[in-house]
Amino acid sequence: MTSEAAAAGATPALRDAARRHLWRHFAPAGAQEDLTVFVRGEGCELWDDRGRRYLDALSSLFCVNVGHGREELADAAAAQARELAYATTWDTAHPRAIELAERIAGLAPGNLDRVFFTSGGSESVESALKLARAYHRARGAPSRVKVVARDLAYHGTTFGALSATGLPSVRTPFEPLMPGGCHVPHTDLYRSPEGRDPLWAADAIEERIRFEGPETVAAVILEPVQNSGGCLPPPRGYFARVREICDRHDVLLVSDDTICSWGRLGTWFGGQRFDYVPDIVTTAKGLTSAYVPMGAMIVSDRVAETMRDEVFEHGLTFGGHPVAAAVALANIDLIEREDLLGRVRRHEPDLRATLEALLELPIVGDVRGAGYFWGIELVADQATKRAFPPEQAHELTSRVLGPELRRRGLICRAADRGYPVIQLAPPLIAGPDEFAEIGAILHDVLAEAARRVPPR
Ligand code: PLP
Repeated sequence: MTSEAAAAGATPALRDAARRHLWRHFAPAGAQEDLTVFVRGEGCELWDDRGRRYLDALSSLFCVNVGHGREELADAAAAQARELAYATTWDTAHPRAIELAERIAGLAPGNLDRVFFTSGGSESVESALKLARAYHRARGAPSRVKVVARDLAYHGTTFGALSATGLPSVRTPFEPLMPGGCHVPHTDLYRSPEGRDPLWAADAIEERIRFEGPETVAAVILEPVQNSGGCLPPPRGYFARVREICDRHDVLLVSDDTICSWGRLGTWFGGQRFDYVPDIVTTAKGLTSAYVPMGAMIVSDRVAETMRDEVFEHGLTFGGHPVAAAVALANIDLIEREDLLGRVRRHEPDLRATLEALLELPIVGDVRGAGYFWGIELVADQATKRAFPPEQAHELTSRVLGPELRRRGLICRAADRGYPVIQLAPPLIAGPDEFAEIGAILHDVLAEAARRVPPR
């Protein structure tokens, strides 16, 4: 469909139906008057039903790693649906799930060789938390049930995953959650006091394990670069220290790579970027570049061996869906053929430089991230790092930056979970042209935001 055709079909009827029937996620059931309705995507661009073009600098929720409109992925889905639309990976299997499991095992770090498929990130995390309990139970330690996660971290919305999520706003309305979710500080290097041991946040994990009693702790779950809070990378040596701590206390290390895999950091998985081997990796999103839903839990030989003769009483109808598996295989082919990991590594310095140029604006406090995953923290005072008060931070992100960025056609995230941040995660096919557009729009919009929300 051309953008003109899309505009012509713009469809008051569609909008009216959305108003009456569509319940968006993280949203009230009521209508949203200025709803954006996307109708087409190509490369790094999206078009809405009014014919407006946007630069998708978020890969549509950190998902569309190979970009929009890739024929190969559509063809793979169609061919698989014709050949075998559905079979389970319960008491049977099918070729695409087997091939994909083998392929993923070959790409994952260390001896992460066993793959359990899910339909998305929350289900992958849910599966990992249940497996951690099952693993300890199988080894005769059924009291190990707790999970240590980091403040502000988002690990999904199902009850187990939500217990690991460290965002009070999404947790509190649903309490009581699964018991045993414990939280420790994240790696905020920007606000870390001068002179503090850079690995103090890793040591905080050990303190928490000791405080809870190691014999009660099943797992530690961490993202390679924490999304919520604004792309918080680990300090050098963080994961090596966490690995030591987990080993010392016999606690499983779960790396939640839902965002940070499939090239997002210039590597297949976060462990390869930051030099660690977890016991379990959880992934989703870029696994299929979101052309169809799919997630996975990738498990080390050690954990799988313990479960060799134990039934893992856990399963999902759509885990390992043939169409999703076929798309994932085609997606991995495409990432390899176009060397998108190499591309991200080559262009990371350009993206970083584009964003760091924004530090000339007094409202920009910090620019941080890795690969094609970056956050920009906004401050009331650049010199002192003074934060905006919460009401102003909310006004800035929700009332000014969100609408203004959308109006200027830039899809990125303006969030105030923690301090106010803008987040960017362009498709891995993006390069200097897209970076220039991102930089120009952000510069104008941030300068305007600083005028409209003068710090109190
Ligand atoms: N874990 C992380 C790190 C995520 O970023 C997300 C979603 O953004 C999830 C888990 C949950 O994934 P899903 O929305 O596919 O259930």
